[in-house]
Amino acid sequence: MAEPYPIEESLDPEDWPAFRRLAHRMLDESLDELETIREAPAWRAMPEAVRSSFEEELPWEGLGAEEVYRQYRERVRPYTNGNRHPAFYGWAQSNGTPLGAMAAFLAAALNPHMAGFNQAPARVEEQVVSWLAELMGFSRAASSGVLVTGGTMANILGLAVARHVKAGVPVRERGLAGGPQLMVYGSSATHVWAQKGVELLGIGRDGLRLIVTDDDDRISLTELERAIAEDRAQGRRPICVIGSAGTVNIGAIDDLPGLAALCRREGLWLHIDGAFGALLKLTKTLRGRVSGLEVADSVGFDLHKWGYLPFEIACVLCRDGAAQRAAFAASSPYIAETSRGVIAGGLPLADLGVDLTRGFKALKAWMAFKAEGLSKIGRLIEQNVAQAAFLAGLIDAHPELERRAPAPLNVVCFRYRGAAPEEALDGINRELLLRLQERGLAVPSSTLRGGAVALRVCLVNHRTRRSDLEALVAAAASIGGEVASDSALQ
Ligand SMILES: *Cc1c(COP(=O)(O)O)cnc(C)c1O
Repeated sequence: MAEPYPIEESLDPEDWPAFRRLAHRMLDESLDELETIREAPAWRAMPEAVRSSFEEELPWEGLGAEEVYRQYRERVRPYTNGNRHPAFYGWAQSNGTPLGAMAAFLAAALNPHMAGFNQAPARVEEQVVSWLAELMGFSRAASSGVLVTGGTMANILGLAVARHVKAGVPVRERGLAGGPQLMVYGSSATHVWAQKGVELLGIGRDGLRLIVTDDDDRISLTELERAIAEDRAQGRRPICVIGSAGTVNIGAIDDLPGLAALCRREGLWLHIDGAFGALLKLTKTLRGRVSGLEVADSVGFDLHKWGYLPFEIACVLCRDGAAQRAAFAASSPYIAETSRGVIAGGLPLADLGVDLTRGFKALKAWMAFKAEGLSKIGRLIEQNVAQAAFLAGLIDAHPELERRAPAPLNVVCFRYRGAAPEEALDGINRELLLRLQERGLAVPSSTLRGGAVALRVCLVNHRTRRSDLEALVAAAASIGGEVASDSALQ
């Protein structure tokens, strides 16, 4: 008998057993890769044919999952930025973990909508956030927080709350037009998110004052105090100080208690960018370095750096939960709370930031914290700090290499020196960096120190061993010598 309806389609597999076999292959091959990652090069340059293979026509007709997976294996999987590798030290990018990858799969398979809702996944996020609040020394009951994509978003949300509380005008109703120029302060070592933040929040770059630092890249409190007084005298309105707990360049930690006292005196919001440094709170031996963080008004930090979790996951916490909700909460009939059912309790997570639809990032943190134990993550952080000191020692002892910055935490900046003339060193070190990467030996990044190019090693890598750092030093010296003689010949 003919069906009374036309054929109706779905995106579920037509052949579940075949899909299941393919899914198991995807899983096994991904785990094989992770298990043997140390044997792979730290980075592979993408061949031109692969690069240009991503200029295809719109795929109107399906090729099937098997064929697309084949293309993924061939064209995508080998050519990532390399951050899973033990010899990856660039920027501040963690490796991710096998358990984190599985948790990300489970989260996608479950696919809950994380604006809130009356569901266990929302409780998982609230649990993770309240653990993090306690860890940072905030009151679990009075504070609030939410998981976001990264440190940039976490910090910008903290700054948005600061603006809401301190602008002196109802910014949600009127915006900033007509009010005084709002002023935000940080050190010259503040990460570039602060620029994006003031631009996005309508404060503008003229409202961001970057204060000089001491030789250890910590903000000068006297200069900060002077700048605040000057801005007030000029009719501008100071609202917020950004403290850094672990600067991106060298891992410096501002005098947080000093900043807290100053902000209290001046009536300013203290936001701490603890992108990686805040997680020192997980350690037994180094947590004192970030004391003072617990009296900040808000703090932003990543879990995809020193939390070692796969991208993306970061957290913003506010000491006064009511302030965070007041800065963002919004309602509408189509998302109105009911007393029972799926939307009982409303959308509390959407009320703490700007995202409405959010994925289940919390699961990978919840599983990792419980499975590994926070003590172990703390020990890995201590291991990275000890490895940075070990590397600094190797460089200091090496006649051809030269350290370019203090290494107070997990970041080491250095360059090849050899016998090359000073004016050749930037070029030599730029080329040295590229050869290290292109030969797949190691992936440091680079920065400027004292106006000169330096290689930068940032250890948020749970796979690195001291022998990898010895190999890095040996390779930097020998390739540096090779580049120096190449450039002397030219
Ligand atoms: C990495 C970093 C950020 C930005 O975090 P993302 O997760 O990359 O958005 C902000 N501040 C500091 C100090 C960082 O190291």
